Amino acid sequence: MKVLVIGSGGREHSIVAKLALSTEITALYAAPGNGGIADLATCVPIDVTAVDDLVHFAKEEQIDWTFVGPEIPLLAGVVNAFQQENLNVFGPTKEAALIEGSKDYAKSFMRVHAIPTAASETFSDAEKAKDYIAKKGAPIVVKADGLAAGKGVVVANTVEEANEAVESMLVDNQFGQAGSLVIIEDFLDGKEFSLMAFVNGKDVYPLVPARDHKRVYDNDQGPNTGGMGAYAPIPDLQQSVIDEAIERILKPAAAGLVKEDRSFTGVLYAGLIETTDGPKVIEFNARFGDPETQVILPLLENDLLQVMRDVTAGNNPQLTWKDAYATGTVIAASGYPGSYDKQLPIPDLSELPQDVYCIHAGTEKTAEGYVSNGGRILFIGSVHHNRTDAVESVKTGLTIFKSNPNFHYRTDIGFGK
Ligand code: ATP
Repeated sequence: MKVLVIGSGGREHSIVAKLALSTEITALYAAPGNGGIADLATCVPIDVTAVDDLVHFAKEEQIDWTFVGPEIPLLAGVVNAFQQENLNVFGPTKEAALIEGSKDYAKSFMRVHAIPTAASETFSDAEKAKDYIAKKGAPIVVKADGLAAGKGVVVANTVEEANEAVESMLVDNQFGQAGSLVIIEDFLDGKEFSLMAFVNGKDVYPLVPARDHKRVYDNDQGPNTGGMGAYAPIPDLQQSVIDEAIERILKPAAAGLVKEDRSFTGVLYAGLIETTDGPKVIEFNARFGDPETQVILPLLENDLLQVMRDVTAGNNPQLTWKDAYATGTVIAASGYPGSYDKQLPIPDLSELPQDVYCIHAGTEKTAEGYVSNGGRILFIGSVHHNRTDAVESVKTGLTIFKSNPNFHYRTDIGFGK
Protein backbone atom coordinates (compact mmCIF):
# COMPACT_ATOMS: atom_id res chain seq x y z
CA MET A 1 0.00 0.00 0.00
CA LYS A 2 1.29 3.48 -0.92
CA VAL A 3 0.66 6.37 1.45
CA LEU A 4 1.24 10.11 1.01
CA VAL A 5 1.49 12.59 3.89
CA ILE A 6 0.98 16.27 3.07
CA GLY A 7 3.01 18.72 5.17
CA SER A 8 6.53 19.48 6.35
CA GLY A 9 6.52 20.05 10.10
CA GLY A 10 7.06 18.10 13.30
CA ARG A 11 3.47 16.91 13.24
CA GLU A 12 3.98 15.37 9.80
CA HIS A 13 7.28 13.75 10.83
CA SER A 14 5.40 12.15 13.75
CA ILE A 15 2.64 10.94 11.40
CA VAL A 16 5.19 9.54 8.95
CA ALA A 17 7.13 7.84 11.78
CA LYS A 18 3.93 6.22 13.03
CA LEU A 19 2.83 5.13 9.54
CA ALA A 20 6.32 3.71 8.91
CA LEU A 21 5.52 1.08 11.57
CA SER A 22 2.56 -0.19 9.57
CA THR A 23 3.45 -3.53 7.96
CA GLU A 24 0.96 -2.99 5.15
CA ILE A 25 2.66 0.12 3.79
CA THR A 26 5.10 -0.59 0.98
CA ALA A 27 5.95 3.01 0.06
CA LEU A 28 5.67 6.28 1.98
CA TYR A 29 5.77 9.71 0.36
CA ALA A 30 5.68 13.21 1.81
CA ALA A 31 4.90 16.51 0.11
CA PRO A 32 7.08 18.39 0.67
CA GLY A 33 8.45 16.72 3.85
CA ASN A 34 11.60 17.74 5.75
CA GLY A 35 15.09 16.49 6.63
CA GLY A 36 13.87 13.92 9.16
CA ILE A 37 10.95 12.75 7.05
CA ALA A 38 13.41 12.16 4.19
CA ASP A 39 14.93 9.31 6.25
CA LEU A 40 11.58 7.45 6.24
CA ALA A 41 9.73 8.57 3.12
CA THR A 42 10.34 9.82 -0.40
CA CYS A 43 9.96 13.60 -0.28
CA VAL A 44 8.40 15.22 -3.32
CA PRO A 45 8.78 18.99 -3.78
CA ILE A 46 5.10 19.90 -4.06
CA ASP A 47 3.77 22.81 -2.05
CA VAL A 48 0.95 21.98 0.39
CA THR A 49 -1.37 24.43 -1.36
CA ALA A 50 -0.69 23.17 -4.90
CA VAL A 51 -3.92 21.19 -4.86
CA ASP A 52 -3.93 20.20 -8.55
CA ASP A 53 -0.30 19.05 -8.40
CA LEU A 54 -1.03 16.96 -5.30
CA VAL A 55 -3.99 15.28 -7.00
CA HIS A 56 -1.90 14.71 -10.12
CA PHE A 57 0.92 13.14 -8.08
CA ALA A 58 -1.48 10.87 -6.16
CA LYS A 59 -3.01 9.64 -9.40
CA GLU A 60 0.30 9.16 -11.20
CA GLU A 61 1.87 7.26 -8.30
CA GLN A 62 -1.34 5.37 -7.57
CA ILE A 63 -1.32 6.44 -3.93
CA ASP A 64 -3.77 4.36 -1.89
CA TRP A 65 -4.22 6.77 1.03
CA THR A 66 -3.34 10.40 1.70
CA PHE A 67 -3.12 11.98 5.14
CA VAL A 68 -3.33 15.79 5.31
CA GLY A 69 -1.32 17.32 8.18
CA PRO A 70 -1.71 21.13 8.22
CA GLU A 71 -4.75 23.41 8.10
CA ILE A 72 -3.74 25.47 5.08
CA PRO A 73 -4.23 22.70 2.47
CA LEU A 74 -7.47 21.65 4.20
CA LEU A 75 -8.88 25.14 3.84
CA ALA A 76 -7.55 25.28 0.29
CA GLY A 77 -9.85 22.33 -0.47
CA VAL A 78 -7.31 19.54 -0.93
CA VAL A 79 -9.70 16.95 0.53
CA ASN A 80 -12.54 18.10 -1.74
CA ALA A 81 -10.24 17.78 -4.75
CA PHE A 82 -9.05 14.28 -3.77
CA GLN A 83 -12.63 13.14 -3.14
CA GLN A 84 -13.71 14.44 -6.50
CA GLU A 85 -11.16 12.12 -8.08
CA ASN A 86 -12.22 9.20 -5.86
CA LEU A 87 -8.86 9.17 -4.08
CA ASN A 88 -8.78 7.96 -0.45
CA VAL A 89 -7.90 10.87 1.79
CA PHE A 90 -8.03 11.42 5.53
CA GLY A 91 -9.03 14.94 6.57
CA PRO A 92 -12.04 17.28 6.54
CA THR A 93 -13.40 19.08 3.50
CA LYS A 94 -12.87 22.85 3.36
CA GLU A 95 -16.47 23.31 4.47
CA ALA A 96 -15.88 21.23 7.63
CA ALA A 97 -12.44 22.80 8.21
CA LEU A 98 -14.10 26.22 8.49
CA ILE A 99 -14.46 25.46 12.18
CA GLU A 100 -10.74 26.32 12.28
CA GLY A 101 -10.62 28.71 9.34
CA SER A 102 -13.03 31.28 10.75
CA LYS A 103 -13.16 32.07 14.46
CA ASP A 104 -16.33 34.04 13.83
CA TYR A 105 -17.95 30.95 12.30
CA ALA A 106 -16.62 28.77 15.18
CA LYS A 107 -18.09 31.13 17.78
CA SER A 108 -21.53 31.29 16.18
CA PHE A 109 -21.42 27.50 15.67
CA MET A 110 -20.77 27.05 19.40
CA ARG A 111 -23.58 29.43 20.29
CA VAL A 112 -26.05 27.57 18.06
CA HIS A 113 -25.05 24.15 19.39
CA ALA A 114 -24.72 25.23 23.04
CA ILE A 115 -21.03 24.30 23.27
CA PRO A 116 -19.39 26.00 26.27
CA THR A 117 -17.03 28.83 25.29
CA ALA A 118 -16.25 32.41 26.35
CA ALA A 119 -18.87 35.05 25.53
CA SER A 120 -17.84 37.13 22.53
CA GLU A 121 -18.89 39.57 19.84
CA THR A 122 -17.56 40.06 16.34
CA PHE A 123 -16.76 43.46 14.79
CA SER A 124 -15.67 44.90 11.47
CA ASP A 125 -15.79 48.47 12.76
CA ALA A 126 -12.90 49.56 15.02
CA GLU A 127 -14.89 52.20 16.94
CA LYS A 128 -17.69 49.77 17.76
CA ALA A 129 -15.11 47.20 18.86
CA LYS A 130 -13.49 49.77 21.17
CA ASP A 131 -16.87 50.76 22.65
CA TYR A 132 -17.46 47.08 23.45
CA ILE A 133 -14.00 46.79 25.04
CA ALA A 134 -14.67 49.92 27.14
CA LYS A 135 -17.93 48.36 28.35
CA LYS A 136 -16.30 44.99 29.13
CA GLY A 137 -12.97 46.16 30.65
CA ALA A 138 -9.71 44.17 30.85
CA PRO A 139 -8.36 41.51 30.78
CA ILE A 140 -9.99 40.76 27.45
CA VAL A 141 -9.01 38.80 24.34
CA VAL A 142 -8.85 40.14 20.77
CA LYS A 143 -8.73 37.62 17.91
CA ALA A 144 -8.40 37.93 14.16
CA ASP A 145 -11.11 35.91 12.41
CA GLY A 146 -8.94 33.98 9.95
CA LEU A 147 -5.72 31.96 10.01
CA ALA A 148 -2.77 33.94 11.35
CA ALA A 149 -0.24 31.20 12.19
CA GLY A 150 -0.89 31.49 15.92
CA LYS A 151 -0.16 35.24 15.94
CA GLY A 152 -3.72 36.52 15.57
CA VAL A 153 -4.64 36.37 19.25
CA VAL A 154 -3.89 39.10 21.79
CA VAL A 155 -4.64 38.45 25.45
CA ALA A 156 -4.84 42.08 26.56
CA ASN A 157 -4.25 42.99 30.19
CA THR A 158 -5.40 46.56 29.68
CA VAL A 159 -8.07 48.32 27.64
CA GLU A 160 -5.31 50.26 25.83
CA GLU A 161 -3.60 47.04 24.76
CA ALA A 162 -6.91 45.63 23.49
CA ASN A 163 -7.62 48.87 21.56
CA GLU A 164 -4.16 48.70 19.97
CA ALA A 165 -4.82 45.14 18.84
CA VAL A 166 -8.13 46.23 17.29
CA GLU A 167 -6.37 49.12 15.50
CA SER A 168 -3.65 46.91 14.08
CA MET A 169 -6.13 44.30 12.86
CA LEU A 170 -9.03 46.43 11.57
CA VAL A 171 -7.30 49.69 10.63
CA ASP A 172 -3.68 48.78 9.80
CA ASN A 173 -4.69 45.41 8.28
CA GLN A 174 -1.86 43.58 10.05
CA PHE A 175 -3.26 40.21 8.98
CA GLY A 176 -4.87 41.31 5.71
CA GLN A 177 -8.18 39.61 4.98
CA ALA A 178 -7.72 37.25 7.98
CA GLY A 179 -8.07 40.28 10.28
CA SER A 180 -10.98 42.03 8.54
CA LEU A 181 -13.23 40.78 11.34
CA VAL A 182 -12.17 40.71 14.98
CA ILE A 183 -13.66 38.68 17.77
CA ILE A 184 -13.60 40.26 21.22
CA GLU A 185 -13.84 37.51 23.78
CA ASP A 186 -14.10 37.33 27.57
CA PHE A 187 -10.88 36.29 29.28
CA LEU A 188 -11.08 32.79 30.77
CA ASP A 189 -8.94 31.75 33.71
CA GLY A 190 -7.74 28.18 34.16
CA LYS A 191 -5.38 25.48 32.97
CA GLU A 192 -5.36 24.73 29.25
CA PHE A 193 -5.37 21.32 27.63
CA SER A 194 -5.83 19.90 24.16
CA LEU A 195 -8.33 17.16 23.49
CA MET A 196 -8.44 15.64 20.04
CA ALA A 197 -10.55 12.92 18.50
CA PHE A 198 -10.73 10.90 15.33
CA VAL A 199 -14.10 11.90 13.93
CA ASN A 200 -16.29 10.63 11.13
CA GLY A 201 -19.68 12.32 11.01
CA LYS A 202 -21.20 11.78 14.45
CA ASP A 203 -18.64 9.13 15.47
CA VAL A 204 -16.07 10.47 17.93
CA TYR A 205 -13.02 8.49 19.15
CA PRO A 206 -11.06 10.62 21.64
CA LEU A 207 -7.28 10.56 21.96
CA VAL A 208 -5.34 10.98 25.20
CA PRO A 209 -5.34 14.61 26.29
CA ALA A 210 -2.11 16.58 25.93
CA ARG A 211 -0.83 19.92 27.09
CA ASP A 212 1.36 22.12 24.98
CA HIS A 213 3.38 25.12 26.08
CA LYS A 214 2.91 28.10 23.79
CA ARG A 215 5.01 30.71 25.61
CA VAL A 216 8.63 30.97 24.62
CA TYR A 217 10.29 31.02 28.06
CA ASP A 218 10.21 28.85 31.18
CA ASN A 219 7.25 29.28 33.54
CA ASP A 220 5.08 30.34 30.58
CA GLN A 221 6.74 33.72 30.20
CA GLY A 222 7.34 35.77 27.03
CA PRO A 223 5.48 35.89 23.73
CA ASN A 224 3.37 33.09 22.23
CA THR A 225 4.98 30.67 19.78
CA GLY A 226 3.74 27.75 17.71
CA GLY A 227 4.47 25.60 20.79
CA MET A 228 7.71 24.95 22.71
CA GLY A 229 6.94 21.47 24.04
CA ALA A 230 4.18 19.14 25.12
CA TYR A 231 3.34 16.19 27.31
CA ALA A 232 0.63 13.53 27.52
CA PRO A 233 -1.34 12.37 29.38
CA ILE A 234 -1.97 15.19 31.90
CA PRO A 235 -1.53 14.07 35.52
CA ASP A 236 -3.50 16.96 37.02
CA LEU A 237 -6.50 16.57 34.71
CA GLN A 238 -9.38 14.61 36.24
CA GLN A 239 -11.12 11.95 34.17
CA SER A 240 -14.45 13.62 34.96
CA VAL A 241 -13.28 16.80 33.20
CA ILE A 242 -12.16 14.80 30.16
CA ASP A 243 -15.52 12.99 30.08
CA GLU A 244 -17.37 16.28 30.32
CA ALA A 245 -15.31 17.69 27.45
CA ILE A 246 -16.14 14.66 25.30
CA GLU A 247 -19.87 14.77 26.09
CA ARG A 248 -20.43 18.53 26.06
CA ILE A 249 -17.88 19.62 23.48
CA LEU A 250 -16.49 17.00 21.07
CA LYS A 251 -19.67 14.99 20.50
CA PRO A 252 -21.97 18.02 20.07
CA ALA A 253 -19.39 19.61 17.74
CA ALA A 254 -19.28 16.53 15.50
CA ALA A 255 -23.09 16.25 15.54
CA GLY A 256 -23.46 20.01 14.92
CA LEU A 257 -21.21 19.87 11.86
CA VAL A 258 -23.31 17.03 10.44
CA LYS A 259 -26.44 19.10 11.05
CA GLU A 260 -24.91 22.08 9.25
CA ASP A 261 -24.07 19.91 6.26
CA ARG A 262 -20.36 20.18 7.01
CA SER A 263 -19.85 16.59 8.18
CA PHE A 264 -16.29 16.24 9.51
CA THR A 265 -13.91 13.37 8.85
CA GLY A 266 -10.40 13.58 10.27
CA VAL A 267 -8.90 14.78 13.51
CA LEU A 268 -10.95 17.37 15.40
CA TYR A 269 -8.92 19.34 17.92
CA ALA A 270 -10.45 21.20 20.83
CA GLY A 271 -8.21 23.72 22.59
CA LEU A 272 -9.80 23.84 26.04
CA ILE A 273 -9.51 25.66 29.31
CA GLU A 274 -10.53 24.09 32.60
CA THR A 275 -12.60 26.79 34.33
CA THR A 276 -14.43 26.58 37.66
CA ASP A 277 -17.51 26.25 35.47
CA GLY A 278 -16.20 23.19 33.58
CA PRO A 279 -14.13 22.91 30.39
CA LYS A 280 -14.67 25.63 27.77
CA VAL A 281 -13.48 25.94 24.19
CA ILE A 282 -10.72 28.38 23.28
CA GLU A 283 -10.53 27.19 19.70
CA PHE A 284 -11.24 24.32 17.38
CA ASN A 285 -8.69 23.07 14.89
CA ALA A 286 -9.42 20.77 11.99
CA ARG A 287 -6.25 18.65 12.27
CA PHE A 288 -3.70 17.17 14.66
CA GLY A 289 -2.09 19.70 17.00
CA ASP A 290 1.58 20.53 16.76
CA PRO A 291 3.48 19.73 19.02
CA GLU A 292 0.81 17.61 20.80
CA THR A 293 0.94 14.95 18.07
CA GLN A 294 4.63 14.42 18.84
CA VAL A 295 3.68 13.07 22.28
CA ILE A 296 0.32 11.47 21.46
CA LEU A 297 1.24 9.21 18.55
CA PRO A 298 4.12 7.50 20.42
CA LEU A 299 1.51 6.44 23.02
CA LEU A 300 -0.95 5.04 20.47
CA GLU A 301 -0.71 1.27 20.16
CA ASN A 302 -2.87 0.93 17.03
CA ASP A 303 -1.67 0.94 13.45
CA LEU A 304 -2.44 4.48 12.20
CA LEU A 305 -3.28 3.31 8.68
CA GLN A 306 -5.84 0.89 10.09
CA VAL A 307 -7.28 3.62 12.32
CA MET A 308 -7.70 5.88 9.30
CA ARG A 309 -9.43 3.12 7.35
CA ASP A 310 -11.68 2.07 10.24
CA VAL A 311 -12.76 5.61 11.08
CA THR A 312 -13.53 6.39 7.44
CA ALA A 313 -15.48 3.15 7.03
CA GLY A 314 -17.59 3.90 10.12
CA ASN A 315 -15.97 1.20 12.26
CA ASN A 316 -14.75 1.71 15.81
CA PRO A 317 -10.93 1.76 15.58
CA GLN A 318 -10.70 0.38 19.17
CA LEU A 319 -7.95 2.78 20.18
CA THR A 320 -5.55 1.45 22.80
CA TRP A 321 -2.89 3.44 24.61
CA LYS A 322 0.42 2.62 26.24
CA ASP A 323 0.34 2.91 29.99
CA ALA A 324 3.15 5.45 29.82
CA TYR A 325 3.98 9.14 29.84
CA ALA A 326 5.41 11.06 26.87
CA THR A 327 7.07 14.43 27.06
CA GLY A 328 9.16 16.50 24.68
CA THR A 329 10.83 19.85 24.20
CA VAL A 330 11.22 21.94 21.05
CA ILE A 331 14.65 23.13 19.97
CA ALA A 332 14.13 26.55 18.38
CA ALA A 333 16.45 28.85 16.47
CA SER A 334 17.88 31.75 18.51
CA GLY A 335 15.59 34.73 18.08
CA TYR A 336 12.43 32.65 17.49
CA PRO A 337 9.52 33.64 17.63
CA GLY A 338 11.09 36.89 16.38
CA SER A 339 13.55 36.91 13.48
CA TYR A 340 16.08 34.08 13.29
CA ASP A 341 18.72 32.61 10.99
CA LYS A 342 18.25 29.53 8.84
CA GLN A 343 20.77 26.98 7.57
CA LEU A 344 22.09 26.48 11.12
CA PRO A 345 24.12 23.26 11.34
CA ILE A 346 22.46 20.69 13.60
CA PRO A 347 24.61 18.83 16.16
CA ASP A 348 25.26 15.11 15.66
CA LEU A 349 21.93 13.52 16.56
CA SER A 350 23.51 10.07 16.94
CA GLU A 351 24.80 11.40 20.27
CA LEU A 352 21.26 11.53 21.67
CA PRO A 353 20.58 8.91 24.36
CA GLN A 354 18.94 5.65 23.26
CA ASP A 355 15.69 6.32 25.09
CA VAL A 356 14.82 9.63 23.44
CA TYR A 357 13.31 10.20 20.02
CA CYS A 358 13.94 13.13 17.74
CA ILE A 359 11.26 14.63 15.53
CA HIS A 360 12.28 17.12 12.85
CA ALA A 361 10.16 20.26 12.45
CA GLY A 362 12.22 22.74 10.43
CA THR A 363 15.18 20.92 8.90
CA GLU A 364 16.54 19.88 5.55
CA LYS A 365 19.07 17.24 4.68
CA THR A 366 22.28 18.32 2.94
CA ALA A 367 25.45 16.47 1.97
CA GLU A 368 27.06 17.86 5.15
CA GLY A 369 24.20 16.80 7.43
CA TYR A 370 20.97 18.36 8.62
CA VAL A 371 20.56 22.14 8.69
CA SER A 372 17.68 24.23 9.99
CA ASN A 373 15.11 25.89 7.75
CA GLY A 374 12.57 27.15 10.28
CA GLY A 375 12.09 28.68 13.73
CA ARG A 376 11.08 25.47 15.42
CA ILE A 377 13.74 22.98 14.39
CA LEU A 378 13.54 19.73 16.38
CA PHE A 379 11.49 18.05 19.08
CA ILE A 380 13.32 15.89 21.61
CA GLY A 381 10.90 13.45 23.23
CA SER A 382 10.83 10.44 25.49
CA VAL A 383 8.28 7.82 26.54
CA HIS A 384 8.58 6.08 29.90
CA HIS A 385 6.28 4.26 32.21
CA ASN A 386 7.38 6.68 34.87
CA ARG A 387 6.98 10.41 34.33
CA THR A 388 10.22 11.40 36.10
CA ASP A 389 12.20 9.03 33.87
CA ALA A 390 10.66 10.56 30.73
CA VAL A 391 11.45 14.10 31.89
CA GLU A 392 15.02 13.13 32.90
CA SER A 393 15.72 11.41 29.55
CA VAL A 394 14.66 14.50 27.61
CA LYS A 395 16.82 16.63 29.89
CA THR A 396 19.84 14.46 29.08
CA GLY A 397 19.00 14.64 25.36
CA LEU A 398 18.89 18.43 25.49
CA THR A 399 22.53 18.64 26.64
CA ILE A 400 23.80 18.30 23.05
CA PHE A 401 22.23 21.72 22.36
CA LYS A 402 23.32 23.31 25.63
CA SER A 403 25.35 26.53 25.36
CA ASN A 404 25.06 26.41 21.57
CA PRO A 405 24.32 30.05 20.58
CA ASN A 406 22.29 28.92 17.54
CA PHE A 407 19.50 27.38 19.63
CA HIS A 408 17.24 27.92 22.60
CA TYR A 409 14.71 25.73 24.38
CA ARG A 410 12.61 25.55 27.54
CA THR A 411 13.82 23.55 30.51
CA ASP A 412 10.52 23.10 32.36
CA ILE A 413 8.36 21.00 29.99
CA GLY A 414 6.74 17.88 31.39
CA PHE A 415 6.60 18.73 35.06
CA GLY A 416 2.82 18.97 34.99
CA LYS A 417 2.55 22.75 35.04
P1 ATP B 1 -2.84 28.34 17.30
O1 ATP B 1 -2.79 28.72 15.86
O2 ATP B 1 -1.49 28.31 17.95
O3 ATP B 1 -3.63 27.13 17.57
P2 ATP B 1 -4.62 30.53 17.56
O4 ATP B 1 -3.96 31.67 16.91
O5 ATP B 1 -5.68 29.85 16.81
O6 ATP B 1 -3.55 29.51 18.07
P3 ATP B 1 -5.99 30.53 20.13
O7 ATP B 1 -5.60 29.12 20.40
O8 ATP B 1 -7.41 30.89 19.95
O9 ATP B 1 -5.16 31.12 18.91
O10 ATP B 1 -5.36 31.38 21.29
C1 ATP B 1 -3.97 31.37 21.57
C2 ATP B 1 -3.75 31.41 23.07
O11 ATP B 1 -4.35 32.60 23.61
C3 ATP B 1 -4.44 30.26 23.81
O12 ATP B 1 -3.67 29.11 23.85
C4 ATP B 1 -4.66 30.87 25.18
O13 ATP B 1 -3.48 30.78 25.95
C5 ATP B 1 -4.92 32.32 24.88
N1 ATP B 1 -6.37 32.57 24.83
C6 ATP B 1 -7.16 32.54 23.75
N2 ATP B 1 -8.46 32.81 24.07
C7 ATP B 1 -8.48 33.02 25.41
C8 ATP B 1 -9.51 33.36 26.36
N3 ATP B 1 -10.75 33.56 25.99
N4 ATP B 1 -9.14 33.49 27.65
C9 ATP B 1 -7.85 33.33 28.04
N5 ATP B 1 -6.83 33.03 27.20
C10 ATP B 1 -7.13 32.88 25.90
